Amino acid sequence: MPSTSQFQCQSIPTVESLKGQRFALATRHGKEWAFAPAFETVFGAEIVVAAIDTDALGTFDGDVPRPMDAVSVVIEKARRGATALGLRYGLASEGTFGPHPMLPILPITTEHVAFVDLKSGHSVVETLSNHSTNFSHLDPGGDLEAFLARIGFPHHAVLARNVATGTFEKGLNTRPDLEAAFERLGGTATVRLETDMRAHVNPTRMIQIAIAADRLAYRLSMPCPVCAAPGFGSSDVLRGLPCIECGSPTDLVRAEVCSCSACGTKQEVPRRDGRTHADAVDCPVCNS
Ligand SMILES: [Zn+2]
Ligand SMILES: [Zn+2]
Repeated sequence: MPSTSQFQCQSIPTVESLKGQRFALATRHGKEWAFAPAFETVFGAEIVVAAIDTDALGTFDGDVPRPMDAVSVVIEKARRGATALGLRYGLASEGTFGPHPMLPILPITTEHVAFVDLKSGHSVVETLSNHSTNFSHLDPGGDLEAFLARIGFPHHAVLARNVATGTFEKGLNTRPDLEAAFERLGGTATVRLETDMRAHVNPTRMIQIAIAADRLAYRLSMPCPVCAAPGFGSSDVLRGLPCIECGSPTDLVRAEVCSCSACGTKQEVPRRDGRTHADAVDCPVCNS
């Protein structure tokens, strides 16, 4: 195995050198609430808001389509935030929402959070994907009260859209505002309601960003065992946990793959719960 010094890029920061630093956070939606606690705890860092306009990189309301994939967008946002403030380190988050590919009734939320170092170009992205989202919509004429109750209105805002013209109003989080928007947009028969997914008006999403930001901070505190770059962490899983009865591989996770985005080192890590075998009930051979 090559020695650490052979791989060490002079300009990539060490975990230690991130301590007490200022990190730019690109947001206009109060995401410092989600990032600051973990970065303060792990690095004693200060989060400085870069209130830059990232709408050109895509918006949730569909007004501006995303020109690149979500991971590229989140890295670019973090870069722009750090550049705007003249800071070396940048942070950002980017969410995507949609129906589950197999169970369309179950929505999926994915949050990507990124760290970038402008000096070396090193970037680390952490991704969180689950069903903890209120992402939904109500077609014109649908059951308004049931929808509003289900999505957590008024703590979660909605967006009202005229289905014929596409004109919309967002950030609606009071009854009077909602009623006025219906009126302006042509009434309940022509208006579709959508959950407003911007973090500052969607606390369910803000919590997901906070969980992802926590994971990013802790991941950055892990140095790569080969090049020492910050951010050594989980990037994939390997399936095939052997059956306890017959030893056949099952669909359960056997190990995690941890990797470094700076030098490409990959390491197989055993399951964190210490489990080494699957029950026969999960085995395709024993159950065939
Ligand atoms: Zn490395
Ligand atoms: Zn078996």
